[in-house]
Amino acid sequence: MDRTEIASLGEFGLIDHLTQNNETKNASTILSVGDDAAVIDHFGRQTVISTDLLLEGIHFDLSYTPLKHLGYKSVVVNVSDIYAMNATPTQIVLSIGISNKFSVEALDEFYEGVYAACEKHNVDLIGGDTTSSQKGFVISITAIGEVAPDKYVKRSTAKVNDLICVSGDLGGAFLGLTILEREKKIFETTGAQPDLENQAYIVGRLLKPEARKDVIEYFAAQNIMPTSMMDISDGLSSELLHICKQSNVGCVIYEDKLPLNEDSKNFAYKLELDPTACALSGGEDYELLFTVSQTDFEKVSANNGLSIIGYITEDPATKTIITRGGNTHDLVAQGWNHLKK
Ligand code: ADP
Ligand code: MG
Repeated sequence: MDRTEIASLGEFGLIDHLTQNNETKNASTILSVGDDAAVIDHFGRQTVISTDLLLEGIHFDLSYTPLKHLGYKSVVVNVSDIYAMNATPTQIVLSIGISNKFSVEALDEFYEGVYAACEKHNVDLIGGDTTSSQKGFVISITAIGEVAPDKYVKRSTAKVNDLICVSGDLGGAFLGLTILEREKKIFETTGAQPDLENQAYIVGRLLKPEARKDVIEYFAAQNIMPTSMMDISDGLSSELLHICKQSNVGCVIYEDKLPLNEDSKNFAYKLELDPTACALSGGEDYELLFTVSQTDFEKVSANNGLSIIGYITEDPATKTIITRGGNTHDLVAQGWNHLKK
């Protein structure tokens, strides 16, 4: 394949190249790429902002992450934070630091993923910054969203007896990471080609996660106002403990209510990992964790993609999980690093 050096375009040529087909989708985007700053107007709605910094070697590994997926995921993890506020993402600002090992073609692939995610989530890329990096690829994304005044949902407002709910299934992304890391090590030591054992589901959960736009839309359609919410990037336990701490409440969740995918479960058993531990402590699933008042029980139950896993209790000191066997354990935030061998 041809390789075009970034230097042959120069910084401005590169920005032009990367944004030449960039079209505005939202009325709130008044002025986009090309000036000193962008202008947005949310017409009386409130503005929600969140930012993420992604570093090669820390947050992603280019040896098994296709650039297109990386572009897609970079946008998705950011708009996921906007959804977690019960808001609608409308714009992103994307800055990159690139080393000279990158060609224009490689960046094109990355931006293909970025634009695909923008399309999917109806957000406009309205600006960014482009610099060179001595080592490693650096990605900084800021997402901007809008929400009707006072409809945003915080972490600190869960109430006693509220139902604790999650979207989708949990633990898959961690298992996907485990198999990719394992195959990378084998490749590095023996040169053997990766054997992903047809684990498309879990590998996909890591490499191309999806932010839960549909869940926010369901809330709006059903008139559900969660009492608290956040997205699950570090693992369910850790996130639920954040909600409890910030809301000054406790919780009870049930092991048998945790949503696990069949493929994830089977693969966990194969690795002699506990699927429950993967669901509690595995990260990067980008599902939504939220609480609702008991009066919303039927509306939440009616959606097959949502699971009610427990309820909020009064004593902030007691955060428990009840196992299948009926035993009670303290819920602890292990994060997902401890799961790595
Ligand atoms: P400045 O020198 O004022 O920082 P730049 O030359 O860096 O301006 O950027 C020119 C325009 O291109 C701005 O609108 C900026 O937001 C946009 N831009 C720069 N880099 C990117 C990028 N990687 N993706 C999208 N827009 C970008
Ligand atoms: Mg600049």
